[in-house]
Amino acid sequence: MPLVALIPEPNAPVELREVPAPELEKNSALFNVEFSEVCGTDVYLQRGLLTGVPYPLVPGHVSVGRLSKIRGTLVDIEGREFREGDRVTFLDVHRTCHQCWYCLVAKATTRCPKRKVYGITYGLDDGLCGGWAEQIYLKPGTLCLRLDADAETFMAGGCALPTALHAIERADIAIGDTVLVLGSGPVGISGIILALMRGALKVFCIGAPAPRLEAASEAGADAVLNFEDHNLGERLEWVRERTGGRGADVTIEATGAPDAVVEAMRFTRDAGRVVVVGQYTDHGETSFNPHLDLNRKHLDVRGCWGSDFSHFHRAVQIVSDPLKSKAWASLKSRLARYSLAKANEALTAVAQGRVLKALIDPGQR
Ligand SMILES: [Zn+2]
Ligand SMILES: [Zn+2]
Repeated sequence: MPLVALIPEPNAPVELREVPAPELEKNSALFNVEFSEVCGTDVYLQRGLLTGVPYPLVPGHVSVGRLSKIRGTLVDIEGREFREGDRVTFLDVHRTCHQCWYCLVAKATTRCPKRKVYGITYGLDDGLCGGWAEQIYLKPGTLCLRLDADAETFMAGGCALPTALHAIERADIAIGDTVLVLGSGPVGISGIILALMRGALKVFCIGAPAPRLEAASEAGADAVLNFEDHNLGERLEWVRERTGGRGADVTIEATGAPDAVVEAMRFTRDAGRVVVVGQYTDHGETSFNPHLDLNRKHLDVRGCWGSDFSHFHRAVQIVSDPLKSKAWASLKSRLARYSLAKANEALTAVAQGRVLKALIDPGQR
């Protein structure tokens, strides 16, 4: 019987449980987890901050592992058949319908009302659907991606990499732009690397704590500032000093703090762009001056929710490239590994920002 670590209800500690192995439906598979992860969203799931989440919940939406059993046929995007033993990751979003108004007219599949997410909106009652487990049941229709890359390099990006890819796409960075990233967590760090890849001349980062800012510098940030040591006025001054007094061309908010959205608007130059990616879960309200902060500045403010298959596909390709993957490979030394039994410690470490990223390693006892 596979072992899982689950959140029984909001605000309760994680528990270990053995659950029955699933019966495989046609064109489904069993996935042996090599690594899953603990991200900011998992911290908020434990606190019950996302609606539509069924508890008990086995968290862990992005994972790497091997297909241990396949029933029927499973093919990749190129039409190549998967074999038992292949190392894969899979799109955590399942059941996007490609038939509804959002999918077909708005072309915004991340807003499809039918979509379900492994480890977030699939609970234990839906089966073995989270990565904090020895095994995951890949239901029919789950999109698998072959992973030839090093598993830990992929997980150094983890769920943050497709999310950051989506944010950078929304940011529409021009060659030579100055980009400001607010937040030095995994999304912020991958955002720095990708902004440079996309052609930014310079990327600045405001975040905390110090070890995460070191990672931001290592990832290529031109300058970093610890927001805990500087008030709003000082932070604004710091940005202006580096941007000809105007503010950043593009700012990516990747913090999770509602006030950071307003700061992002204030730190951006007139007629610049702001992408909000850090508010995946509900952290409450904030206020801003519509005239001063938005309209007179002629700002373009864009939300960015989740990610789709294209972002996953590109993420896998980038981390499989020997040159392009280097920035993530060098983050591997900053990964902390936890067994299923230590999932509570992993959550605390992520909540406190003590580790850049916590991996769940079910093979570790
Ligand atoms: Zn749909
Ligand atoms: Zn995540």
